[in-house]
Amino acid sequence: EKKQTINFGAGPAKLPQPQVLLQAQKELLDYNGTGISLLEMSHRASDFTRIINTTGQLLRELLNVPENYRIIFLQGGGSGQFSAVPLNLIGLKPSRCADYLVTGTWSAKAAKEAEKFGKVNVIHPKMDTYTKIPESSTWSLNPSASYVYYCCNETVHGIEFNFIPDTKGVVLVSDMSSNFLSRPIDVSKFGLIFAGAQKNVGCAGVTVVIVREDLIYIMSLVLEWVKNNGGADAMENLNKKKSGMIYDIINRSDGFYSCPVEETCRSRMNIPFFIKTNTGDETLEKSFLDGASKLGMISLKGHRSVGGIRASLYNAVTIEDVEVLAAYMEDFYRNFR
Ligand code: PMP
Repeated sequence: EKKQTINFGAGPAKLPQPQVLLQAQKELLDYNGTGISLLEMSHRASDFTRIINTTGQLLRELLNVPENYRIIFLQGGGSGQFSAVPLNLIGLKPSRCADYLVTGTWSAKAAKEAEKFGKVNVIHPKMDTYTKIPESSTWSLNPSASYVYYCCNETVHGIEFNFIPDTKGVVLVSDMSSNFLSRPIDVSKFGLIFAGAQKNVGCAGVTVVIVREDLIYIMSLVLEWVKNNGGADAMENLNKKKSGMIYDIINRSDGFYSCPVEETCRSRMNIPFFIKTNTGDETLEKSFLDGASKLGMISLKGHRSVGGIRASLYNAVTIEDVEVLAAYMEDFYRNFR
């Protein structure tokens, strides 16, 4: 006689039997009388649309997800969200900074990934073993961070938050991969919640994201901002002025700064330039970048395929921002030419 197998896996994990597995088995060959398997069905078929809508509706009901939150089903696993979160949210504020409460393997991985996209403030940098959630009064959260991130349940270390961190109004993001739908949760406290399905709500291949609508409407907000600031005409004037300030310095620098692009087609958005080293000293550009960084000007390094410096002056970069760069370029010219 075959012994019963009990799956205590961390995910992919046990699914409810017989309700889920037996029903799936039954419907595998003939879904809902269609005569074909769900696995063979078009993702545009009405049967499939019904499944995806019902699933979203059920989840909304079960977790009391407010109307102003979207429920999205994605691929890419929980790990995909480690990049998707900073890619979409780290630019919410000009700081391009996010606070990460690191309490175990998964939040540590998420923090490391986010570093590719902005500045990450790891709240507990000194923990070498993950056995606790440091007392929240010791967290130094940055009020100008774009968001605060935490992993609600650390699957490897077995650490679970039994409270929702108070971020003083900063957008809160949580990885709930391994405790999603294991208890009620006040979704309204969060900007975004994500969970790989393969633990509490399904099998591998689906990631659920619950996100507050205003966070996926950044473009609409930016467009409104453009409108309130005079529209495309005003943007053009500003951008001409901004790029003019930098090209002017380049042109007046006797070749100390040089832009390889012909004057008739120089970009107003991205200004690549080189710094001439009389002595062939290649460290001058590095000094320029280091000095700029000390003054709070970041991401001025040219693309690795061309090197040099690149100043990107998109719409949100203000005249005042460009004045800081211009003054620095003038200074640097006087000191090193
Ligand atoms: N977050 C947590 C809390 C996890 O437990 C896991 C996987 N065990 C992940 C993220 C990564 O998810 P995935 O394997 O779906 O990329």
